Amino acid sequence: MDDFASDTDSDYTSYWRDWFIAARGNEYFCEIDEDYLTDRFNLTGLNTEVQYYQYALDLVTDVFDIEVDDDMREQIEKSARHLYGLVHARYIVTTRGLAKMMEKYKQGVFGRCPRVICSSQHLLPMGQHDTPSHSNVKLYCPKCEDIYNPKSSRHNSIDGAYFGTSFHNILFQVYPALLPPKTQRRYEPRLYGFRVHASAALMRWQEERREEMKERLRVKGLEAGFEEGEEGEGGEESEDDEVGDGQDGIDDMFEGGGAVAAAH
Ligand SMILES: [Zn+2]
Repeated sequence: MDDFASDTDSDYTSYWRDWFIAARGNEYFCEIDEDYLTDRFNLTGLNTEVQYYQYALDLVTDVFDIEVDDDMREQIEKSARHLYGLVHARYIVTTRGLAKMMEKYKQGVFGRCPRVICSSQHLLPMGQHDTPSHSNVKLYCPKCEDIYNPKSSRHNSIDGAYFGTSFHNILFQVYPALLPPKTQRRYEPRLYGFRVHASAALMRWQEERREEMKERLRVKGLEAGFEEGEEGEGGEESEDDEVGDGQDGIDDMFEGGGAVAAAH
């Protein structure tokens, strides 16, 4: 094992998964256990999805040892990457797979939410389809509950089916403590310090509906999942700043009576 002779002839096929995981652009993938890959049950149905299935599987599990020409090798290599991706989607919803992806999520490997108010919330990779070749991988932000395109073109070309539509939701069901509290903060359009009338009216209406919903949840004893201590935060902000004394009339037009009373 330590001598050079044993390594030399198998450079290409040896430790294929290590190579794959370490390759630039493959940061979103975790390493699939050998045990998982060698259990045929886990691979059910994939033989019809992947060209040169057996060769590809041999390559992924480091037992591919036949001589083939470069074109063929390239084909098998491509199939191996596709096979790995398809198995990956199944693996990451297993207990072991979830734990590995959770670690990567904690480290911020999948990037951070570009939305300012999400304060660099870590993202999770996800697919919009469970069948390959429909759309590329997207990133899910558990704070704003929206999805984003990866910043790097390398990540942007990964098939979303290699992560699937359920993984990110399963992860938060298994690790509910990782789910960030929902924020009530949002961007407020302004013109020279004054809230834009139409959007302010709409936001006020939406906030009233939200309070009603929270009250209904409270009555039923259900957790709304919002951040603590955020009540009225937006209101305070809009009363303190830019708008000077003398502008109370305009301010009143935009504010609910309760919020104004609370600030004074
Ligand atoms: Zn976000």
